[in-house]
Amino acid sequence: MSTVGETVFEVDLNALRHNYEYLRSELRPGTKFLAVVKAYAYGHGAPPIALFLEKLGVDYFAVAYTGEGVELREAGVQAPIIVLHPQPVHFEEIIAHRLEPSLYSEEVLQRFAVTAGNGGLREYPVHLKFNTGLNRLGFDAGDVDKVVSFLEQHQAVKPVSLFSHLAASEDPEERDFSRVQISAFKQIADRFEHLAGFRPLLHQCNTSGILCYPEAHFDMVRSGIGLYGYGNDAIHSARLRPIGTLKSVISQLHRLEKGESLGYNRGFIAERPTITATLPLGHADGIGRPYGKGKSHVSVNGQPARILGNVCMDMLMIDVTGIDCSEGDEVIIFGKDPSAEELAATAGTISYELVTAISRRVKRSYKE
Ligand SMILES: *Cc1c(COP(=O)(O)O)cnc(C)c1O
Repeated sequence: MSTVGETVFEVDLNALRHNYEYLRSELRPGTKFLAVVKAYAYGHGAPPIALFLEKLGVDYFAVAYTGEGVELREAGVQAPIIVLHPQPVHFEEIIAHRLEPSLYSEEVLQRFAVTAGNGGLREYPVHLKFNTGLNRLGFDAGDVDKVVSFLEQHQAVKPVSLFSHLAASEDPEERDFSRVQISAFKQIADRFEHLAGFRPLLHQCNTSGILCYPEAHFDMVRSGIGLYGYGNDAIHSARLRPIGTLKSVISQLHRLEKGESLGYNRGFIAERPTITATLPLGHADGIGRPYGKGKSHVSVNGQPARILGNVCMDMLMIDVTGIDCSEGDEVIIFGKDPSAEELAATAGTISYELVTAISRRVKRSYKE
């Protein structure tokens, strides 16, 4: 049995290309594509993912925080990078690395304009975020007039785009809500154009928006989870390919007799003779305690093996009773089977949380 010999998050760049091309094929020609590579490219490793996507022709990147953008610039990414959630303490760093801030309130707009102006800059590219119902971050529709008049007096910044974010694009039961968000965004864009006399790029769709609301693709779309191979429902996920496979290895096998316990706080008590395997992977690697206590399974030589007892910081134990396996054999934590979506669901969460939680101490490897 082939084995990588340690815990590794293996990334298939061909699958990434497939997902990118599939998502692109859903767009009208000319629509720009922004790849969301925040949170270390959803755990897959931001620099290699962004460099690969840049070669494929992605137009824009987005990260959440300034430091993530700096990491991409230092790796050599040249394309424009939006910082979705910057803080004023980082505005000089943003400018020094040619990053483009999302500005979401009068306070941050003003502070960024002052920083850019003090640096002697003109028309520095910025992106204006509007709230259409997520109620998380952004100007409100009623702020357009103030924003436009501020911009007319402050030539240090220039809005390259106006954008908004859908709250429930993956939820068919919330179609009415999403449509209200889309029409609210159109009204904001129209008012802005009417007052300012020009129309920045418009964008509102995340992955599920791309797949479910073609009428809302506007000038650009922003995809994160879809690039990594998850579509938020069975139909869309079937057309995408998960790019990451989290693999581990059996360090040791144990045989528990009936009544013997396993792990911290005796989190599992054998009701019958049980063969367990210990893996070098734990909650500090991103597989948290909610995956323990028999709720979730991983895959050993093609067979499902339950995670037993309490997940430890650096180890977890699985039930391999009846599975033909040896110390040194490979274990699939998630990938094809189980998928990250399936594994996440067993712990009451979503693929996004599972993949972004894989800690930096887990080695990433890339194959094409
Ligand atoms: C994270 C994020 C996205 C990406 O969403 P996916 O569902 O992963 O495609 C898009 N836009 C904004 C503003 C985000 O914060």
